[in-house]
Amino acid sequence: MKLECPYCKNELIKGFIYSGRYSFKWHDENAGLLERVTVFGGEVLSDNIKVICYRCKNCNKIIIDLNECS
Ligand SMILES: [Zn+2]
Repeated sequence: MKLECPYCKNELIKGFIYSGRYSFKWHDENAGLLERVTVFGGEVLSDNIKVICYRCKNCNKIIIDLNECS
């Protein structure tokens, strides 16, 4: 399935990114100081250390599919 970038309509390249040893966590931009400077808090988005993503090389954006891992 070919996907296009929602910003520039360029074709997205399928790949994956690694989180290293840790799970991917979401932090709201209004996160408190403790959450900003420590490992505490945040919402675990995926327990997989590797998630599938689609990259637009034109505008340098990545769309991550948190449910898809390989
Ligand atoms: Zn784009």
